[in-house]
Amino acid sequence: MRYDLAIIGSGAAGFAAAIAGRGSGHSVAMIEQGTVGGTCVNTGCVPSKALLAAAEARHVALEQRFPGVTTSAAPVDADALHAATADLVQGMRADKYVDLATDYGWPILSGSARFVDGPALEVSLTAGGRERVEAEHYLVATGSTPWPPPIAGLAEAGYLTSTTALELEELPASMIVLGGGAIGLELGQLFARLGVAATIVEALPRLAPAEEPEVSAVLDEVLGDEGIVTSPGTGVTAVRGDSSGITVTGTRDGQPIELHAEQLLVATGRRPATAGLNLDAVGVTVGPGGEIEVDPKLRTAHPRIWAAGDVTGGHQFVYVAAAHGAIAAGNALNDADCTVDYRSLPRVTFTTPGIASVGLTEAQAIEHGYACDCRVLPLAHVPRAIVARDTRGLIKLVADAGTGRLLGAHVAADAAGEVIATAVYALANQMTVQQMAELWCPYLTMAEGLKLAAQAFTRDLSRLSCCAA
Ligand SMILES: Cc1cc2nc3c(=O)[nH]c(=O)nc-3n(C[C@H](O)[C@H](O)[C@H](O)COP(=O)(O)OP(=O)(O)OC[C@H]3O[C@@H](n4cnc5c(N)ncnc54)[C@H](O)[C@@H]3O)c2cc1C
Repeated sequence: MRYDLAIIGSGAAGFAAAIAGRGSGHSVAMIEQGTVGGTCVNTGCVPSKALLAAAEARHVALEQRFPGVTTSAAPVDADALHAATADLVQGMRADKYVDLATDYGWPILSGSARFVDGPALEVSLTAGGRERVEAEHYLVATGSTPWPPPIAGLAEAGYLTSTTALELEELPASMIVLGGGAIGLELGQLFARLGVAATIVEALPRLAPAEEPEVSAVLDEVLGDEGIVTSPGTGVTAVRGDSSGITVTGTRDGQPIELHAEQLLVATGRRPATAGLNLDAVGVTVGPGGEIEVDPKLRTAHPRIWAAGDVTGGHQFVYVAAAHGAIAAGNALNDADCTVDYRSLPRVTFTTPGIASVGLTEAQAIEHGYACDCRVLPLAHVPRAIVARDTRGLIKLVADAGTGRLLGAHVAADAAGEVIATAVYALANQMTVQQMAELWCPYLTMAEGLKLAAQAFTRDLSRLSCCAA
């Protein structure tokens, strides 16, 4: 049988494309070499956030019962944690992936796909043997894999990735986390809250380098309060392992630095997964980072081959992968002529407090030529934070000085992701900070901080009464 669309990969991008394809009455086949559902549900978003929630509950309970006692004082039942997480993952994989393929009616072939002349796919089936799959259009949705930087001795010493770290059956006493971006920060805090002595090392001068400097400073302080050692501005040059663990050497502020821990977790980014796809054979080109080169409609250099999600080398979020998949399928099968609009794309790091942002940072606004006006609202002004007795954090708004139009919002706070979802609506609708300051906002929500930050453009917040009046 010749399909309308053959999809390599069963992650968010692949599933969104298949659902869109089936929804418009097209025949679809999917090939998956690993576990159906891909990264997010199996080894990414879902297990990491499930474990973060468990670690936070433990942290809060310990703090309340034994103020000032470090979290390493109480043992962790790693088996129970894993069993509960595996159960959750299995349920979501069935509900949100496996069963949907049956409902919508497309086959998932278990095996590894590569392009051959035609173009067609040759699938090395997991059960043995090969199968040729032919389609009018092909979608490469093969995701990304952890990328270890070229550091002397790293491969020989052995290290954890985000995938293997989340599967650890025994927790180490100590861990160095290489990488102070979203995954490194989340996992560093996760393991620290499970009682591991964690050190987070970042090559750039501050943690969360993509965020506003004020946000990085909050995070540095909070992690420090929890006993996590942070080492920004540290260039790691060598790693060596012995029976006592791992030693990392490098320089910080021009001075030699040496760190030692039982385990090393490398969280220095992920690279597109294209190895073995035989893309050359069908004229699909890749960029310097191994990403499949696509046009704004997600078409590759071959007119019948499309790509979506992490493999395109863009924003590595599951909601981007899903949006890509649906758009690529619409363009391929229905000539939908759609492109992806990233202007109000939010990002969240699920630390506690969380950090989240949308739109331009102050530096980016200036680079884009805006005369910008910014306000930084410490959470000490936000009633939700005051009653929760944790005012560490802030909300920063970046606005166009001429028009007052919101250009960016940046949050370091509890429920940062929820707050930023509100800012997405304001940004996408081109609201001004004056409009944001006047809209209704429920009292005692963290999102009220957005309204207060907007009011800070024209008013002295210390002279406001309750409910920002
Ligand atoms: C620890 C962690 C936490 C994360 N947390 C979040 C979060 O909170 N929020 C968020 O938005 N994003 C998060 N992400 C990112 C998110 O998981 C990814 O952006 C998203 O899953 C990418 O989806 P995808 O469809 O592009 O690829 P994937 O989901 O990776 O799917 C690709 C699939 O293709 C298969 N495949 C590869 N090559 C072949 C081949 N040759 N033949 C057959 N099959 C093949 C793979 O086995 C895989 O199943 C996280 C990632 C990690 C690692």
